Amino acid sequence: MNYQNIIDQQRHFFYTNTTKDIPFRIKQLKHLKDILKKNETLLYQSIYNDFKKSEFETYTTELSIIYHEIDLAITKTKKWAKKKKVSTGLVNLPGISYIIPEPYGTILVIGAWNYPYQLSLCPAIAAIAAGCTVVLKPSEISSHTSATMAALINQNFDPSFFKVIEGGAKETANVLDVKFDKIFFTGSVAVGKIIYQAAAKHLTPVTLELGGKSPAIITEGIDIDMAAKRLVWAKFLNAGQTCIAPDYVMVASTIQDQFLTAIEKYIKKANYNVSNHNYTQIINDKNFNRLYNLIDPDKIYFGGDNNPKERIISPTVLINVAFSDKIMQEEIFGPILPILTFENIEDAIKKIKKLPNPLSCYIFTKNRAIKNKILKEISFGGGAINDAVMHFAEKSLPFGGVGDSGIGNYHGKYGFDTFSHYKSILQKTFWAEPNLKYPPYSSSKLKWLKRLIG
Ligand code: NAD
Repeated sequence: MNYQNIIDQQRHFFYTNTTKDIPFRIKQLKHLKDILKKNETLLYQSIYNDFKKSEFETYTTELSIIYHEIDLAITKTKKWAKKKKVSTGLVNLPGISYIIPEPYGTILVIGAWNYPYQLSLCPAIAAIAAGCTVVLKPSEISSHTSATMAALINQNFDPSFFKVIEGGAKETANVLDVKFDKIFFTGSVAVGKIIYQAAAKHLTPVTLELGGKSPAIITEGIDIDMAAKRLVWAKFLNAGQTCIAPDYVMVASTIQDQFLTAIEKYIKKANYNVSNHNYTQIINDKNFNRLYNLIDPDKIYFGGDNNPKERIISPTVLINVAFSDKIMQEEIFGPILPILTFENIEDAIKKIKKLPNPLSCYIFTKNRAIKNKILKEISFGGGAINDAVMHFAEKSLPFGGVGDSGIGNYHGKYGFDTFSHYKSILQKTFWAEPNLKYPPYSSSKLKWLKRLIG
């Protein structure tokens, strides 16, 4: 495929200024929602074909999020795109200052496979709202959803405005040779570095939505049952293949037994197993084998069952885990939950801080001093107090990482901002011009300037 051609077409279309019209953007967003709504059965079917994701989870973790993003953008784009007047300093009076949100231009969105629809379409929605054109490259690993998005978008949108291209590392490398105005990437830290380097060649700005090991910290004095219920849901949703899933738990040693009993109770209640159609498969054999090899049989507290043919690994809880264990050396990205203990919170914080900045952190505590200490001392993308994963659904919160877990953020207005350049303008009139800044300089001019500028 000639990627340069696609980008040239999109750039040409962008320069017609059509996408700068707010009604045009809103029309495209409504059109996208309409297409998705009309094809919901196909969307459910293709993601089921990829990794047997249930209709329930597809709706709650993919489609509802996309619809919400579209609806929000439809109602707010006009407001978001307005120029914003700001104050003007004395030296520039008479004059006014304002900021104009300007679309970056032609955007490349590269998606990941684990939530293939929303991780591809939500950035695209934000880019359209901001007035950009979009080339979307979904993950080839979730091949059915990638093909479905390509068919739906390419049959229903002008390619000079919104185009899906399919392919893996080789195709993406070729696309990256072309200059875009912004690249939005979701995926692993390793590939994030490749994208960043490729973007640097063209000085293209990037948003990198990456991963990492997100801890859950469980302290004494909490409702252990409720904490376990929320954690089990957050961890085993999508069979643990969630970038913000609690990767590992650090629990106060005094309550470990109670906590483990509660975790076991909620795993059993969820009834995740091979014949439960609400339990998602591992995406492919490569990941199944990687996860299988992370399980130390001597450390299994619960679970550990698997079915390679079905690519299912039952929820598995490991105990007596140390930071030096193999499972603590990489992001797990699957249904394995290592439990580590701590004697005091300072020690726990110290150990967590030795790992790269996580995408999320979950703090289960009723102790305000501990909560504040963790929030102050550990740097992470975002998170929740006494819950896990649900901060993702809070549209007033920006979503993104820090350090190794990413650069930039999106969702709602933050997505609009991600694809906008904020153009700063000072506007003067012709009817007055103080002479202070002009030569010949003098000590009295300097005195007045110092008074004015401060
Ligand atoms: P990945 O990095 O393997 O792939 C992501 C995308 O990059 C895919 O579209 C793929 O085709 C492309 N790609 C792969 N190799 C490439 C290469 N050499 N050159 C150019 N492009 C290449 O990630 P994945 O396996 O799809 O997703 C899992 C990772 O993504 C996990 O680390 C997870 O934490 C992270 N993730 C982060 C978020 C987030 O919002 N922060 C969301 C989901 C997943």
